[in-house]
Amino acid sequence: MKLIANAAEMRAIPRSTEFRNGGVSFWYRDAGLPERRAPLPGDADYDVCVVGAGYTGLWTAYYLKKARPDLRVAVLEREFAGFGASGRNGGWLSAEFAGSRERYAESHGKGAVIALQRAMMAAVDEVIEVAEAESIDADIVKGGMRTVATNPAQKARLLEEITYLQEWGYWPEDFYLLEPDHEPRLRVDGTIAEAFSPHAARVQPAKLARGLAAAVAALGVDVFEDTAVTEIRGRQGGESAAAVTERGTVRAAHVIRATEGFTASMAGERRQWLPMHSSMIATEPLSAEAWKRIGWEGREVLGDAAHAYVYAQRTADDRIAIGGRGAPYRFGSGHDNNGATQPQAIAELWRALVRLFPAASEVPVAHAWSGVLGVSRDWCPTVHLDSAEGLGWAGGYVGSGVTASNLAGRTLRDLVLGRTTELTRLPWVGHRARGWEPEPLRWIGTQVSHGLYRTADRREADHGAETSTFADLAARISGR
Ligand SMILES: Cc1cc2nc3c(=O)[nH]c(=O)nc-3n(C[C@H](O)[C@H](O)[C@H](O)COP(=O)(O)OP(=O)(O)OC[C@H]3O[C@@H](n4cnc5c(N)ncnc54)[C@H](O)[C@@H]3O)c2cc1C
Repeated sequence: MKLIANAAEMRAIPRSTEFRNGGVSFWYRDAGLPERRAPLPGDADYDVCVVGAGYTGLWTAYYLKKARPDLRVAVLEREFAGFGASGRNGGWLSAEFAGSRERYAESHGKGAVIALQRAMMAAVDEVIEVAEAESIDADIVKGGMRTVATNPAQKARLLEEITYLQEWGYWPEDFYLLEPDHEPRLRVDGTIAEAFSPHAARVQPAKLARGLAAAVAALGVDVFEDTAVTEIRGRQGGESAAAVTERGTVRAAHVIRATEGFTASMAGERRQWLPMHSSMIATEPLSAEAWKRIGWEGREVLGDAAHAYVYAQRTADDRIAIGGRGAPYRFGSGHDNNGATQPQAIAELWRALVRLFPAASEVPVAHAWSGVLGVSRDWCPTVHLDSAEGLGWAGGYVGSGVTASNLAGRTLRDLVLGRTTELTRLPWVGHRARGWEPEPLRWIGTQVSHGLYRTADRREADHGAETSTFADLAARISGR
């Protein structure tokens, strides 16, 4: 496995004449970019003000308004609903949870962590049910999740993971090894072991975000777009909490920050969540002949067991969309808004695509894009409400936010309404991590750990039967 693509390899990537890099994401090319809603007209008072119209913000507004139709709820969005990771992701609606189980167990006990895992599984079905109830057509197919191992070290890790997860809330039927000729067939080249979980569905992410925004607006939530929040203030003295924008200030009993990967650009939040980039490519539709070779009738979401893993789906129109961490961190927590992706990341994803699916090697790449997600210093997602200040937030889902944001939205509803429920007792509620190091340490640390994970993958692909020590070192540096 090679790290750096040379110019000839870059030129070898087949691209459509209509190839596009950026433009937010392929999902919007498929669904069409939405017309923007009107911005905030001026100063206003609400009961709840949500900042950011990705899944976290939209689910929070949705469940609040459903529970209390009389609440006045506003959502302030800098671009348009679903502009961020929610409109760019791999479309894995899965029960995967990113945080360290051991860390949560330290504060809440093992039972609470198991409850969190079971709540994630239930949240997959909750999203599907709400999508049905609200007539949101997001190409959802609950085909489960396959994880493939393509070398002995990956296989050993996959087996360990199955055993490990069964201690933390997965029962034997929730994640298990597949027999080699399992039906429905999904032929991934070089597979020496594969595992399956039924708790996952494929979605078209932008359609989900767009449909959810429409459902929220139909409930009577005021969704203001083209409205950038420059500052969030907590309640002080007799003054309510507030979200300040150039178009006016919204005062509210509660202000909820739902800006995940963009949080570092907000005043005072630079070091809370590291903005981590993830990149994707989508091919042109594959021929019937290629699909005959690959299978993938079940539309499972697919990932591998590498350290720098990839995630993939078969789209509703028969393309392969595959993603991974191309160039994960930019100095000074920078990010590109439009989703433009570095050629190096495109080349790496294409190499992964043809390694796993040789039948796709001639199929032109139609689109490449990137997005940004949030990572806290201890890699544990959180949901929080500070009742005294009237400020709340949720995020840090580390690439597993499609389902977690739904659970977070319902949890924020209960916290805002002052209810003590099984959701508010989950161990990610109120979890705090220290901030990331200042630059240049933050950049150096992320570059080194990313490089080590890649070296570990290379060594495992070449000869290792066990997880490479480079991966252990990377985990220590990154604080996972
Ligand atoms: C390429 C990629 C692939 C991924 N794949 C998966 C996957 O397959 N499965 C999975 O579970 N997770 C995946 N994730 C992660 C998942 O998409 C995110 O965790 C999730 O969408 C986060 O939702 P959110 O609403 O918290 O944040 P976002 O969707 O990023 O929404 C934040 C919103 O806040 C707005 N905003 C930012 N700053 C301001 C401001 N100052 N004022 C007003 N508004 C502001 C942004 O414009 C944006 O719309 C992926 C992420 C990426 C980038």
